[in-house]
Amino acid sequence: MTPRDLMREAEKARRHAYAPYSNFPVGAALLTKDGTVVHGCNVENASYGLSVCAERNAIWNAVSTGRREFTAIAITAREGHGAPPCGSCRQVLHEFAPNAWVYWRDGKGRILRRRLKALLPLAFQKRMLRRR
Ligand SMILES: [Zn+2]
Repeated sequence: MTPRDLMREAEKARRHAYAPYSNFPVGAALLTKDGTVVHGCNVENASYGLSVCAERNAIWNAVSTGRREFTAIAITAREGHGAPPCGSCRQVLHEFAPNAWVYWRDGKGRILRRRLKALLPLAFQKRMLRRR
């Protein structure tokens, strides 16, 4: 699956976004190691603080169905708006796939790509929780 193919999947996911407060619908498509594509969209709430990003919803969706190995994620917002993942989503994705590719678009629609570990250097990691 090419980055463009995965971005098209993210666009499909964005159609389900629930974003009445920000009016900023976002879609994410997560590619698992076995080639499955898992969708996520942002879901907002009137309380604002309980809103969840598309990327994390894709990860919750994947983990909830037994998938924990990811090779890439594509994220898309409205045309003309770039949508790299926020810091919270970077941290959550890092838990499962620090080497995953992250694809998003710039304001001109070009697909940008970085490895997750490059987007979140010095990430907090579960090994840091271990006692000596
Ligand atoms: Zn986020």
